[in-house]
Amino acid sequence: MTAPHSTSTDKAPVHWADIGVNLTDKQFRDDRSEVIQRAEAAGVVWQLLTGTNVEESRQAIELARDHDGLQATAGLHPHSARFYSGSLENELRELLARPGVKAAGEMGLDFNRDFSPRPDQERAFEAQLALATEFGLPVFLHERDAHDRFYPILKAHRDALPGAVVHCFTGSRKALFDYLDLDCHIGITGWVCDERRGKPLAELLHNIPDNRLLLETDAPYLLPRDLPEPPPKKRRNEPSLLPWIGQRVAQWRGQKVEQVADMTYRNARALFG
Ligand SMILES: [Zn+2]
Repeated sequence: MTAPHSTSTDKAPVHWADIGVNLTDKQFRDDRSEVIQRAEAAGVVWQLLTGTNVEESRQAIELARDHDGLQATAGLHPHSARFYSGSLENELRELLARPGVKAAGEMGLDFNRDFSPRPDQERAFEAQLALATEFGLPVFLHERDAHDRFYPILKAHRDALPGAVVHCFTGSRKALFDYLDLDCHIGITGWVCDERRGKPLAELLHNIPDNRLLLETDAPYLLPRDLPEPPPKKRRNEPSLLPWIGQRVAQWRGQKVEQVADMTYRNARALFG
């Protein structure tokens, strides 16, 4: 394995797309432009910034406006679903109409943490699926330990949606095939770089069709556990590390790194227009 920042000299530059970057997180407050520059230098030329509430979505949209290669989502994370209201929906509506917004979300169900009551989560999820339909936007989905409820809700809306990605997929084989049946894209993170915890997921990777695979760092979270020493200061993940994840994914799928970069980049551009 070569270091994540190394580039080969005899090949055309490889382009990567990171479809899940929480660039508005306060962990990036002091060096956001350096993070963007490092990503570009590593070939990560396209990033989708995750909006998890109204304020962060607004900030993500502003970043997207000011930087080539950045685009945003706008939505309310299931953790905050208890705050969903008519007035919040109006604010989301205003954000979803803005240029630079390429998906509705982050939305979904998280029954692992249960930070919001489950009925509130389902209500906010359904309402945002309807909003995505209204605006003709693909959806950026979060599902954790909630497949049994998430799947029928998504299924009921799926035909009306132009596209959907189940981001940071870490579920079972059955869940994977259910989402592929609904013609969802699957977002894979550095979870697969964890030898112990990530192995069941890594072993499923070859089941994802070439045209449904997407890659994401979910930075600043989910720092790959198998990076060469020394690990980044603050143990913070960032989009420049996406090629490291891509390299692992390529190994598990038995494909060339360049091929994985190319197809996941093209999938992101096709899904998020
Ligand atoms: Zn998420």
